[in-house]
Amino acid sequence: MQNMLLNEAIEKYYGLNREDIYASMKMNTIIREEMKLFLDMDGFIEVNPVIISPISDPLNHPVQDPWIDYYGFRYRLTKSMIFHKQLSMVFFDKIFIFSPNIRVEPLDRKSTGRHLVEFTQLDLEVRNAKREDVMEIAEKMIEKVVRRVMEEFDIKFLNPGLKVFKRPYRKIKYLDAKSEYGEDFELKLSKEMDEPFWIIDIPLEAREFYDKETEPGSGILRDMDLIYPLGYGEAISGGEREYQYERILERIKRKGQNPEEFALLLEAAKKGLYPSAGFGIGIERFVRFLRGKEDISSITLFPKKIGEFTI
Ligand code: AMP
Ligand code: MG
Repeated sequence: MQNMLLNEAIEKYYGLNREDIYASMKMNTIIREEMKLFLDMDGFIEVNPVIISPISDPLNHPVQDPWIDYYGFRYRLTKSMIFHKQLSMVFFDKIFIFSPNIRVEPLDRKSTGRHLVEFTQLDLEVRNAKREDVMEIAEKMIEKVVRRVMEEFDIKFLNPGLKVFKRPYRKIKYLDAKSEYGEDFELKLSKEMDEPFWIIDIPLEAREFYDKETEPGSGILRDMDLIYPLGYGEAISGGEREYQYERILERIKRKGQNPEEFALLLEAAKKGLYPSAGFGIGIERFVRFLRGKEDISSITLFPKKIGEFTI
Protein backbone atom coordinates (compact mmCIF):
# COMPACT_ATOMS: atom_id res chain seq x y z
CA MET A 1 0.00 0.00 0.00
CA GLN A 2 2.73 2.38 1.01
CA ASN A 3 4.61 1.54 -2.18
CA MET A 4 1.56 2.21 -4.29
CA LEU A 5 1.09 5.60 -2.69
CA LEU A 6 4.74 6.40 -3.24
CA ASN A 7 4.50 5.33 -6.90
CA GLU A 8 1.45 7.50 -7.40
CA ALA A 9 3.16 10.49 -5.82
CA ILE A 10 6.21 10.01 -8.03
CA GLU A 11 4.10 9.64 -11.17
CA LYS A 12 2.25 12.82 -10.30
CA TYR A 13 5.48 14.69 -9.62
CA TYR A 14 6.91 13.76 -13.03
CA GLY A 15 3.55 14.01 -14.80
CA LEU A 16 4.01 10.43 -16.07
CA ASN A 17 1.97 7.28 -16.09
CA ARG A 18 4.05 4.16 -15.42
CA GLU A 19 2.48 1.95 -18.09
CA ASP A 20 2.62 4.72 -20.66
CA ILE A 21 6.26 5.70 -20.11
CA TYR A 22 7.19 2.02 -20.07
CA ALA A 23 5.65 1.61 -23.55
CA SER A 24 7.52 4.66 -24.84
CA MET A 25 10.89 3.65 -23.45
CA LYS A 26 10.38 0.08 -24.71
CA MET A 27 9.64 1.60 -28.12
CA ASN A 28 12.82 3.65 -27.80
CA THR A 29 14.77 0.44 -27.00
CA ILE A 30 13.33 -1.39 -29.99
CA ILE A 31 13.90 1.48 -32.43
CA ARG A 32 17.57 1.63 -31.47
CA GLU A 33 17.95 -2.13 -31.63
CA GLU A 34 16.34 -2.45 -35.07
CA MET A 35 18.25 0.51 -36.49
CA LYS A 36 21.54 -0.80 -35.19
CA LEU A 37 20.90 -4.31 -36.55
CA PHE A 38 19.81 -2.94 -39.91
CA LEU A 39 22.87 -0.72 -40.27
CA ASP A 40 25.30 -3.33 -38.95
CA MET A 41 23.99 -5.81 -41.54
CA ASP A 42 24.49 -3.15 -44.22
CA GLY A 43 28.17 -2.68 -43.35
CA PHE A 44 27.90 0.47 -41.23
CA ILE A 45 30.30 1.14 -38.35
CA GLU A 46 28.99 2.70 -35.15
CA VAL A 47 31.00 5.74 -34.11
CA ASN A 48 30.80 7.03 -30.55
CA PRO A 49 29.06 10.32 -29.89
CA VAL A 50 31.08 13.51 -29.64
CA ILE A 51 29.67 15.62 -26.82
CA ILE A 52 32.06 18.59 -26.84
CA SER A 53 34.10 20.11 -29.65
CA PRO A 54 35.37 23.52 -30.81
CA ILE A 55 32.93 23.28 -33.75
CA SER A 56 29.35 22.21 -34.05
CA ASP A 57 26.45 22.60 -36.44
CA PRO A 58 25.63 26.31 -36.96
CA LEU A 59 21.97 25.33 -37.70
CA ASN A 60 19.70 27.57 -39.72
CA HIS A 61 17.67 28.99 -36.87
CA PRO A 62 18.82 30.91 -33.81
CA VAL A 63 19.96 28.45 -31.16
CA GLN A 64 22.04 29.70 -28.28
CA ASP A 65 25.43 27.99 -28.30
CA PRO A 66 26.13 26.38 -24.93
CA TRP A 67 29.85 26.00 -24.29
CA ILE A 68 32.30 24.93 -21.64
CA ASP A 69 35.71 26.22 -20.68
CA TYR A 70 38.07 23.50 -21.90
CA TYR A 71 41.50 24.37 -20.47
CA GLY A 72 41.00 27.94 -21.66
CA PHE A 73 39.48 26.92 -25.02
CA ARG A 74 35.84 27.45 -25.86
CA TYR A 75 34.27 24.05 -26.55
CA ARG A 76 30.65 23.83 -27.66
CA LEU A 77 28.09 21.22 -26.72
CA THR A 78 27.08 19.21 -29.77
CA LYS A 79 24.09 20.46 -31.76
CA SER A 80 24.74 17.81 -34.40
CA MET A 81 27.76 15.79 -35.50
CA ILE A 82 27.62 16.90 -39.13
CA PHE A 83 31.31 17.90 -39.34
CA HIS A 84 32.56 14.87 -37.44
CA LYS A 85 30.54 12.70 -39.80
CA GLN A 86 32.23 14.31 -42.80
CA LEU A 87 35.66 13.88 -41.21
CA SER A 88 34.90 10.23 -40.37
CA MET A 89 34.54 9.53 -44.08
CA VAL A 90 38.33 9.65 -44.31
CA PHE A 91 38.45 6.41 -42.32
CA PHE A 92 35.12 4.65 -42.96
CA ASP A 93 32.71 4.50 -45.85
CA LYS A 94 29.53 4.03 -43.81
CA ILE A 95 29.01 5.28 -40.28
CA PHE A 96 26.25 5.92 -37.78
CA ILE A 97 26.03 7.45 -34.32
CA PHE A 98 23.31 7.69 -31.72
CA SER A 99 24.19 11.30 -31.15
CA PRO A 100 22.92 13.25 -28.14
CA ASN A 101 22.28 16.85 -29.14
CA ILE A 102 21.77 19.94 -27.02
CA ARG A 103 19.83 22.73 -28.68
CA VAL A 104 18.58 25.57 -26.54
CA GLU A 105 15.68 26.11 -28.90
CA PRO A 106 13.89 29.49 -29.14
CA LEU A 107 10.82 29.90 -26.89
CA ASP A 108 8.47 30.11 -29.87
CA ARG A 109 9.07 26.38 -30.46
CA LYS A 110 7.67 25.52 -27.04
CA SER A 111 4.27 24.36 -28.24
CA THR A 112 5.15 22.56 -31.47
CA GLY A 113 5.04 19.16 -29.72
CA ARG A 114 8.20 18.27 -31.70
CA HIS A 115 11.00 20.09 -29.90
CA LEU A 116 13.08 19.13 -26.89
CA VAL A 117 16.25 20.85 -25.74
CA GLU A 118 18.02 17.52 -25.26
CA PHE A 119 17.37 14.77 -27.79
CA THR A 120 19.13 12.00 -29.69
CA GLN A 121 19.40 11.59 -33.40
CA LEU A 122 20.50 8.56 -35.30
CA ASP A 123 22.95 10.30 -37.55
CA LEU A 124 24.51 8.48 -40.50
CA GLU A 125 26.79 9.27 -43.42
CA VAL A 126 27.91 7.33 -46.49
CA ARG A 127 31.03 8.07 -48.54
CA ASN A 128 30.52 8.75 -52.28
CA ALA A 129 26.77 8.36 -51.86
CA LYS A 130 24.03 10.32 -53.56
CA ARG A 131 20.98 11.73 -51.83
CA GLU A 132 18.80 8.99 -53.33
CA ASP A 133 21.01 6.24 -51.85
CA VAL A 134 20.50 7.44 -48.29
CA MET A 135 16.80 8.10 -48.88
CA GLU A 136 16.42 4.42 -49.72
CA ILE A 137 18.31 3.46 -46.56
CA ALA A 138 15.95 5.65 -44.49
CA GLU A 139 12.83 4.13 -46.01
CA LYS A 140 14.01 0.55 -45.51
CA MET A 141 15.11 1.24 -41.95
CA ILE A 142 11.77 2.84 -41.08
CA GLU A 143 9.94 -0.13 -42.54
CA LYS A 144 11.94 -2.55 -40.42
CA VAL A 145 11.15 -0.59 -37.26
CA VAL A 146 7.45 -0.23 -38.13
CA ARG A 147 7.08 -3.97 -38.78
CA ARG A 148 8.71 -4.84 -35.46
CA VAL A 149 6.69 -2.41 -33.32
CA MET A 150 3.42 -3.47 -34.99
CA GLU A 151 4.29 -7.05 -34.14
CA GLU A 152 5.35 -6.33 -30.58
CA PHE A 153 2.93 -3.71 -29.21
CA ASP A 154 -0.72 -3.82 -28.32
CA ILE A 155 -2.61 -1.41 -30.61
CA LYS A 156 -3.57 0.72 -27.63
CA PHE A 157 0.09 1.84 -27.52
CA LEU A 158 0.31 2.58 -31.27
CA ASN A 159 -0.60 5.47 -33.53
CA PRO A 160 -3.95 4.43 -35.07
CA GLY A 161 -2.68 5.60 -38.49
CA LEU A 162 0.39 3.37 -38.36
CA LYS A 163 0.93 0.87 -41.20
CA VAL A 164 3.74 -0.50 -43.34
CA PHE A 165 4.11 2.46 -45.67
CA LYS A 166 4.50 2.00 -49.40
CA ARG A 167 8.04 2.51 -50.71
CA PRO A 168 9.44 4.58 -52.36
CA TYR A 169 7.83 7.54 -50.60
CA ARG A 170 6.50 10.45 -52.63
CA LYS A 171 8.97 13.27 -53.39
CA ILE A 172 7.82 16.89 -53.55
CA LYS A 173 10.04 19.81 -54.49
CA TYR A 174 10.30 22.48 -51.79
CA LEU A 175 9.42 25.39 -54.08
CA ASP A 176 6.44 23.54 -55.59
CA ALA A 177 5.09 22.75 -52.11
CA LYS A 178 5.60 26.35 -51.00
CA SER A 179 3.89 27.87 -54.02
CA GLU A 180 0.89 25.58 -53.61
CA TYR A 181 0.49 25.61 -49.83
CA GLY A 182 2.27 28.81 -48.71
CA GLU A 183 4.86 29.33 -45.95
CA ASP A 184 3.33 26.71 -43.67
CA PHE A 185 3.40 24.01 -46.36
CA GLU A 186 5.21 21.43 -44.27
CA LEU A 187 2.60 21.13 -41.56
CA LYS A 188 -0.32 21.55 -43.96
CA LEU A 189 0.95 18.74 -46.18
CA SER A 190 1.81 16.60 -43.15
CA LYS A 191 -1.80 16.91 -41.94
CA GLU A 192 -3.16 16.07 -45.37
CA MET A 193 -1.07 12.94 -46.01
CA ASP A 194 -1.43 9.46 -44.58
CA GLU A 195 1.98 8.26 -45.82
CA PRO A 196 5.42 9.80 -45.15
CA PHE A 197 6.81 11.98 -47.95
CA TRP A 198 10.04 13.73 -48.91
CA ILE A 199 10.55 17.43 -49.44
CA ILE A 200 13.53 17.75 -51.80
CA ASP A 201 15.62 20.48 -53.45
CA ILE A 202 15.57 22.90 -50.55
CA PRO A 203 16.77 26.46 -51.28
CA LEU A 204 20.03 27.59 -49.79
CA GLU A 205 18.41 30.26 -47.56
CA ALA A 206 16.42 27.58 -45.76
CA ARG A 207 19.45 25.42 -44.92
CA GLU A 208 22.95 25.40 -43.48
CA PHE A 209 26.08 26.01 -45.58
CA TYR A 210 27.26 22.41 -45.65
CA ASP A 211 24.57 20.86 -47.89
CA LYS A 212 25.66 20.65 -51.50
CA GLU A 213 24.30 22.92 -54.21
CA THR A 214 22.95 21.14 -57.31
CA GLU A 215 25.61 23.21 -59.11
CA PRO A 216 27.58 26.24 -57.93
CA GLY A 217 25.31 29.30 -57.92
CA SER A 218 22.01 27.42 -58.44
CA GLY A 219 20.79 28.27 -54.95
CA ILE A 220 19.10 24.85 -54.71
CA LEU A 221 20.55 22.06 -52.59
CA ARG A 222 20.88 18.30 -53.10
CA ASP A 223 19.10 17.71 -49.82
CA MET A 224 15.84 16.52 -48.34
CA ASP A 225 13.54 16.35 -45.35
CA LEU A 226 11.30 13.42 -44.55
CA ILE A 227 7.90 14.46 -43.22
CA TYR A 228 5.71 12.16 -41.14
CA PRO A 229 2.05 12.00 -42.14
CA LEU A 230 -1.02 12.76 -39.95
CA GLY A 231 0.35 16.10 -38.81
CA TYR A 232 3.49 14.81 -37.06
CA GLY A 233 5.83 17.00 -39.11
CA GLU A 234 9.55 16.63 -39.78
CA ALA A 235 11.26 13.29 -39.15
CA ILE A 236 14.57 13.57 -41.00
CA SER A 237 16.89 16.15 -42.50
CA GLY A 238 19.75 15.20 -44.75
CA GLY A 239 21.50 15.62 -48.06
CA GLU A 240 24.72 15.52 -50.03
CA ARG A 241 27.54 17.62 -48.61
CA GLU A 242 29.90 20.27 -49.90
CA TYR A 243 33.39 18.75 -49.46
CA GLN A 244 35.75 20.93 -51.49
CA TYR A 245 37.62 23.69 -49.65
CA GLU A 246 36.72 26.51 -52.06
CA ARG A 247 33.06 25.53 -52.15
CA ILE A 248 32.76 25.30 -48.37
CA LEU A 249 34.47 28.66 -47.91
CA GLU A 250 32.22 30.29 -50.47
CA ARG A 251 29.09 28.87 -48.85
CA ILE A 252 30.15 29.99 -45.37
CA LYS A 253 30.66 33.52 -46.68
CA ARG A 254 27.37 33.52 -48.59
CA LYS A 255 25.62 32.61 -45.36
CA GLY A 256 27.30 35.60 -43.67
CA GLN A 257 29.12 33.31 -41.26
CA ASN A 258 32.66 33.71 -39.98
CA PRO A 259 35.14 31.30 -41.67
CA GLU A 260 37.36 31.49 -38.56
CA GLU A 261 34.67 29.69 -36.57
CA PHE A 262 34.96 26.76 -38.96
CA ALA A 263 38.76 26.80 -39.27
CA LEU A 264 39.06 23.14 -38.26
CA LEU A 265 36.64 22.06 -40.98
CA LEU A 266 38.32 24.25 -43.58
CA GLU A 267 41.74 22.90 -42.64
CA ALA A 268 40.46 19.34 -43.07
CA ALA A 269 38.85 20.23 -46.39
CA LYS A 270 42.20 21.61 -47.62
CA LYS A 271 43.80 18.25 -46.89
CA GLY A 272 40.90 16.51 -48.64
CA LEU A 273 37.42 15.38 -47.73
CA TYR A 274 35.30 12.81 -49.53
CA PRO A 275 31.95 13.49 -51.14
CA SER A 276 29.22 12.00 -48.98
CA ALA A 277 25.54 12.01 -48.18
CA GLY A 278 23.70 11.32 -44.96
CA PHE A 279 20.86 12.23 -42.66
CA GLY A 280 19.72 12.46 -39.08
CA ILE A 281 16.49 11.05 -37.68
CA GLY A 282 15.30 12.16 -34.27
CA ILE A 283 14.65 9.14 -32.04
CA GLU A 284 12.17 10.87 -29.71
CA ARG A 285 10.21 12.18 -32.69
CA PHE A 286 10.07 8.64 -34.07
CA VAL A 287 8.69 7.34 -30.75
CA ARG A 288 6.17 10.19 -30.68
CA PHE A 289 4.96 9.30 -34.17
CA LEU A 290 4.81 5.54 -33.61
CA ARG A 291 2.93 6.04 -30.37
CA GLY A 292 0.68 8.73 -31.81
CA LYS A 293 1.39 11.25 -29.06
CA GLU A 294 0.90 14.97 -29.35
CA ASP A 295 3.66 16.08 -27.00
CA ILE A 296 7.23 14.84 -27.45
CA SER A 297 8.00 15.50 -23.79
CA SER A 298 5.41 12.86 -22.80
CA ILE A 299 7.35 9.99 -24.40
CA THR A 300 10.77 10.36 -22.82
CA LEU A 301 12.04 10.19 -19.28
CA PHE A 302 13.42 13.46 -17.89
CA PRO A 303 12.50 15.58 -20.93
CA LYS A 304 14.22 18.93 -21.22
CA LYS A 305 11.28 21.13 -22.09
CA ILE A 306 11.83 24.48 -23.76
CA GLY A 307 11.96 27.27 -21.18
CA GLU A 308 11.24 25.00 -18.18
CA PHE A 309 13.35 24.19 -15.14
CA THR A 310 13.33 20.38 -14.88
CA ILE A 311 15.60 17.64 -13.63
P1 AMP B 1 18.14 18.80 -38.19
O1 AMP B 1 19.33 18.42 -38.99
O2 AMP B 1 18.31 20.08 -37.48
O3 AMP B 1 16.90 18.78 -39.01
O4 AMP B 1 17.97 17.66 -37.07
C1 AMP B 1 17.90 16.31 -37.45
C2 AMP B 1 16.68 15.65 -36.86
O5 AMP B 1 16.76 15.67 -35.44
C3 AMP B 1 15.35 16.31 -37.18
O6 AMP B 1 14.84 15.94 -38.41
C4 AMP B 1 14.50 15.84 -36.03
O7 AMP B 1 14.03 14.52 -36.21
C5 AMP B 1 15.48 15.83 -34.88
N1 AMP B 1 15.42 17.10 -34.11
C6 AMP B 1 15.94 18.30 -34.45
N2 AMP B 1 15.74 19.22 -33.50
C7 AMP B 1 15.04 18.60 -32.51
C8 AMP B 1 14.54 19.01 -31.24
N3 AMP B 1 14.73 20.26 -30.77
N4 AMP B 1 13.89 18.09 -30.48
C9 AMP B 1 13.73 16.83 -30.92
N5 AMP B 1 14.19 16.38 -32.10
C10 AMP B 1 14.84 17.24 -32.91
MG1 MG C 1 15.61 19.68 -40.15
